[in-house]
Amino acid sequence: MKITAIRDKSISIASPMRNSVIDFSTMTISVVKVETDQRIGGEAVVGYGFTSNGRYAQSGILRDRIFPRLMSAPAQALITDDGKNVDPFKCWQIMMTNEKPGGHGERSVAVGAVDMALWDLLAKMEGKPLYRTLADRFRDGVCDKKIKVYAAGGYYYPGDSLGKFKDEMQGYLDLGFVETKMKIGGASLEEDLRRIEAALEVVGTGQCLAVDANARFDTSTAVAYAEAMSDYDLRWYEEPVGVLDFAAHAEVKAASTAPIATGENIFSCDDSQNLVRYAGLDPNADFLQMDPALSYGLVEYLKTLEMLAANGWSSRRCVPHGGHQFGLHLAAGLGLMGNEAYPGVFEPFGQFAPSMILEGGEVQLTDDPGIGYETIPEIYAILQTI
Ligand code: MG
Repeated sequence: MKITAIRDKSISIASPMRNSVIDFSTMTISVVKVETDQRIGGEAVVGYGFTSNGRYAQSGILRDRIFPRLMSAPAQALITDDGKNVDPFKCWQIMMTNEKPGGHGERSVAVGAVDMALWDLLAKMEGKPLYRTLADRFRDGVCDKKIKVYAAGGYYYPGDSLGKFKDEMQGYLDLGFVETKMKIGGASLEEDLRRIEAALEVVGTGQCLAVDANARFDTSTAVAYAEAMSDYDLRWYEEPVGVLDFAAHAEVKAASTAPIATGENIFSCDDSQNLVRYAGLDPNADFLQMDPALSYGLVEYLKTLEMLAANGWSSRRCVPHGGHQFGLHLAAGLGLMGNEAYPGVFEPFGQFAPSMILEGGEVQLTDDPGIGYETIPEIYAILQTI
């Protein structure tokens, strides 16, 4: 086989909501398409990926560095030794040619989008859903039939009211979710506590509600929130402090009755290793949310999972950020704890395929080959324009 072209398109996912740090009024993503000379059932075989959400489109890095490296490499350098399929590990080495170690910036987001498209392609060439491809390769064929998901919402909106906020939370339960997540840190502590109590009235118990500060707080504010929330028995307290301030994490961890969850803005295996070494986290209680689509893709994530295991962390403590269908396949195929979901947020990329059934907070993937973005009509409409 041969990769014949790689293209990208910047797509707006703008919305009026905000978290404690940014609004999403100009948010974009890059969608990537990898084309090949292969056909299955008369259809051209292509792979699709995108940059998850929250980090904007990466057109410059993709077009100036990543695509030219792949397209100028000898065809054999991108495919398996038997010539039958794409090799994401080989492609990854080519994409990272002449990139200095560390730093990361947002090239990890660009590489992650291409990596996603390559795994989509690989699974389609095998005629399998991606989770099956992953389970067969990395887990002796064992895969999770159902994936635990939670509804990540509770953003701050213009014209917010507690009534609207509770309606939003109730909407998630009506869809079949059991656990939800809400933002904190975008209002005063007193107002955030009122919001938390309003959410608890809807979801019933703290174990069904996580809170997310988006790395807004300094250490003393984060500790004050931890103490004020200590009686709620919350599912987790997410990104309380600066993403790379591991000592601050350790202080907040010591003050928090709720487990800590973090990692969505940690973009490499090296940084993840520092997190589990120095942030005072407990592998039996806390949660890791690294998003493969933002952090150099599945090739890097596999390394990260291996590193985590060596440091006493089970893959069952991992629940990736991003709410994308790629994350669902990884959760099912690699045995993660579950995946984030964004019902009604970051549309259409926060959607599940219409044929997937969500029940009791769990969802089951379909057996469509690859990641299955083509089965989501609003996404398919975008893919056809690339
Ligand atoms: Mg978050």
